Amino acid sequence: MNFKDNIRVIPDFPQPGIRFKDITTLLQNGAIYKEAIDQLKEMVKEKEIDVIAGPEARGFVVGAPLAYSLGVGFVPIRKSGKLPGETIEADYALEYGKDKLAMHKDGIKPGQKVLIADDLLATGGTIQTSIDLIKQLGGEIVGAAFLIELSYLDGRSKLGGIDVVSLVQY
Ligand code: IMP
Repeated sequence: MNFKDNIRVIPDFPQPGIRFKDITTLLQNGAIYKEAIDQLKEMVKEKEIDVIAGPEARGFVVGAPLAYSLGVGFVPIRKSGKLPGETIEADYALEYGKDKLAMHKDGIKPGQKVLIADDLLATGGTIQTSIDLIKQLGGEIVGAAFLIELSYLDGRSKLGGIDVVSLVQY
């Protein structure tokens, strides 16, 4: 399956100079979306996973179906101010901006094994911050899974040696 053919690249979005990898074209094709999740599942199914954590919004689109197909829980990582319960927060910088991520304090129980999922690994800032939050809650990171990895930004080198899998690399 050539996933790249189904990912649209949009130049100068959201800022000049960024070549945005748009996965909406992959998601709208049911067979390809299913195949992508099935292949990611194959890559992580030998791991011991209690829950998958994914940052909004596209982390939900990858993490939730992966969690469902593995029969494990899903924990949202959200922008500040969106989660209704008690939260912990951390600042982060991304490829084209800055923000704050939050998790529910009781989202992960100490000792739980956590796989992180997102659509795309760029500089690694989002996932670094996600790792920080999960560790603060006492979770153990067992790896991170992505549809897309921008290898030229070498985000994985910032992730402290955790196991990183991705379906498509640029
Ligand atoms: P990082 O924090 O620099 O690794 O950026 C990754 C985050 O930014 C992910 O949550 C992505 O959804 C988003 N992102 C960065 N670049 C792109 C892109 O080209 N396409 C889609 N999402 C992107």
